[in-house]
Amino acid sequence: MRRLKNYIRHNLHFFVSATFCALTALILDMFNPRIVREIVDKVILRGNLELLPKLLFYMSLITFSRVILGYFKEYFMDLGGSRLAYELRVDLFEHLQKLPFSFFDGINTGELMARIKEDIENIWFTFGFGLVFFIEQLFYFLIASVILFYINWKLTLIILMLIPFIGYIAYKLEKENDEVYGEISDQGVRLNTTAQEDIAGIRVVKAFGREKYEIEKFFEENKKNFELNVKQAKIFAKYFPWMDFLTNISIGLAITLGGLWVIRDRMSIGTLVAYSGYVSMIVWPVRLGGWIVNMLAQCLASLKKVEKLFREKPERLYIGESVEIKEIKGEIIFRNVSFKYKDDYVLKNINFHVEPGKTLAIMGITGSGKTTIVNLLGRFYEPWEGEILIDGIDIKRIYLKALRESIAYVPQDVFLFSDTVRENIKFGKEINEEVIIRALRDTRALGFVNILPEKLDTVIGERGLGLSGGQKQRLTIARALVRVLVGSAKILILDDVTSSLDMETELYIQRALEEYKGVTKIVIAHRVSAVKNADEIIVLEKGEIVERGTHEELLSLRGKYYEIYQEQYGKYMFMEEELV
Ligand code: ADP
Repeated sequence: MRRLKNYIRHNLHFFVSATFCALTALILDMFNPRIVREIVDKVILRGNLELLPKLLFYMSLITFSRVILGYFKEYFMDLGGSRLAYELRVDLFEHLQKLPFSFFDGINTGELMARIKEDIENIWFTFGFGLVFFIEQLFYFLIASVILFYINWKLTLIILMLIPFIGYIAYKLEKENDEVYGEISDQGVRLNTTAQEDIAGIRVVKAFGREKYEIEKFFEENKKNFELNVKQAKIFAKYFPWMDFLTNISIGLAITLGGLWVIRDRMSIGTLVAYSGYVSMIVWPVRLGGWIVNMLAQCLASLKKVEKLFREKPERLYIGESVEIKEIKGEIIFRNVSFKYKDDYVLKNINFHVEPGKTLAIMGITGSGKTTIVNLLGRFYEPWEGEILIDGIDIKRIYLKALRESIAYVPQDVFLFSDTVRENIKFGKEINEEVIIRALRDTRALGFVNILPEKLDTVIGERGLGLSGGQKQRLTIARALVRVLVGSAKILILDDVTSSLDMETELYIQRALEEYKGVTKIVIAHRVSAVKNADEIIVLEKGEIVERGTHEELLSLRGKYYEIYQEQYGKYMFMEEELV
């Protein structure tokens, strides 16, 4: 909540100005029933017509001033609320960017999106409208009550006895509505997720002919959504008439009992009309009280959820004594490294040493821990035991940004942004066209990029042109290669990247990569053809290195690697011959 105080402090002038406008308008509003009283008593009943222009002028002046004040109130309120939400959203997004992988492992994307969108909107709404509205309604109630007591305290006491009943109904309405509102909101997330997953996975849906199943799934969610909306409508239908009834009773009672006072000449008709005007002013804040309290409670709940995210610890930029490294050469050492994500060890006692510019290949079945090794090298997770050194320095001590800049990583999951080919490759780095072209050539992507409608400036990804799996894969490799070409990355990691490429393209890229001298490469692959030229190959099994050596050494071992080789050699004999 300390954080919220800061945002409020930054924008306090807007909130104070909005409140000032609201309260000034409110005070002016308090004169309206008085003017009506004068019109009734003096103009209508006594025929004092000469007073009318003056009274109408006052009334118009008040109305006009309220319009102006209303404009500034809205303006300041919206500006304050929007700025607060803007600052909060930027800070939250920036904070999320700094959180470690482990945080994202444990959170659902939909939930996180709700924090960024709905919760911030709740906070925005409260600060951009609710708080000033609350203060305004509170003062309407207090000032109008004082005036009512001043006009006729006995009558006011009677009227005020009805107020708790209106308050109670308003409270019940909001309580029930709040429950169903929560359900509607959760259901909305489910409905969205169902639709979003169906659209994202439409190819799978169609390929399996599951359209009907998907329609039924959506139908179910939509039906629940509809039923909840009906439930909410029923709540309104149950309570609103009662609230209207009691509101009318209060005003009716004021007029009837006030009428008796008028008959007994204890009150003028004009005062009675003014009185009923002030009664409306106290009834509405009570009617809206439940809604206001609920809005504030929801804002508080949203603030707590957002605050909880802010309390998540960001990745540590370095641990221990930091080391400034000017230029990385690319030597990698894993020394007795063990790691577990949760309870079980995923890597056990991993040791290897890659000299700068050399290539380490990692093989092993799915789940054997290959990706985890590169996850540790990029410090996406910290090892439980052992140490990882780059150029002899424990990576914990190297500034995270410098460490990650020095690694060009092609992950297993292809991900491209909905942007142009150029921007996807540059990905926020200043890289000139020549380098981009070279990277595209080396990944055999230049051919297809050149026939795209706008070439490098064609928008791809979600909103753009669809590309094949292999084409996307090649662009992700190019995105890493440009970083090597401009010299910022000295380590290149290819995590099973060639699996969606044909053998010919794989071979082409491999040969092109041989030209990338002075870059340390870690290649994770399933195909012998992708690893055979590596300086060292390690074979992983259940998180342990079970074999290691060059291609020839491993073949002569006649172990796991040899088995894989035999399996694949049979399959791809033709390619193997070409490779030799
Ligand atoms: P590989 O790359 O060889 O397929 P991984 O390194 O991805 O294997 O995974 C090794 C093991 O760690 C697997 O059993 C996998 O289920 C588990 N694992 C991977 N990532 C996570 C994670 N984020 N949280 C928990 N367990 C994980």
